[in-house]
Amino acid sequence: MLHDESGLPHISSDDILRGEVKNNTEFGKKIKAYMDRGEIGPADMIAEVVLAHIGKQCPHGFILDGFPRALIQAEMLGMAHSLNAVILLDVPENAILQRITGRRTCSACSRIYHVAVNPPRKEGICDECGGELFHRSDDNAETVKNRIRVYADDTKPLIEYYEKKGLLRRIDGSCDTQSIYRNVAAVLGKNSA
Ligand code: AMP
Repeated sequence: MLHDESGLPHISSDDILRGEVKNNTEFGKKIKAYMDRGEIGPADMIAEVVLAHIGKQCPHGFILDGFPRALIQAEMLGMAHSLNAVILLDVPENAILQRITGRRTCSACSRIYHVAVNPPRKEGICDECGGELFHRSDDNAETVKNRIRVYADDTKPLIEYYEKKGLLRRIDGSCDTQSIYRNVAAVLGKNSA
């Protein structure tokens, strides 16, 4: 939604890494097992790959999603780019589990659906582009619980890191997508004012 509104590229580290795995690159082979377990893996090498994508596509800015998720990545990002804001979507663990295990992703355009809350018009097919939907192998309950543990160990320290820089914006992520979007857009609007 932010991308549609602002026209800025949406850079998802997961899409980038999944692309490497799909293309069976040497790097993709290295990171696949980490991704299947919901772990961070070689954080600095992953940062280099994500930063190279930002460099290529973003003369007017970018929306980062899933990155940074470790202190080293935040430091590497900070050396390459300045940020306007860092959005923390605050969601209770049970809602995270329910959302992610029911998630379906379009294999062609990466659009996200949910089997119960936001199903496609035709089962298994993307409304937007007709691509086939798939259930990510790491979107199962066991891996999601591990991803939450990894978040607590490696990513949570970034809250304080960005708070100290005055960049952190907390958003209640427990409500519906429209409300979350409005709140994020309002915070970013104030930011650019
Ligand atoms: P996500 O869809 O953002 O939860 O990412 C799925 C998986 O991709 C994670 O569980 C990690 O294994 C990997 N991944 C995504 N972003 C990063 C990152 N910034 N650093 C390291 N691994 C990542």
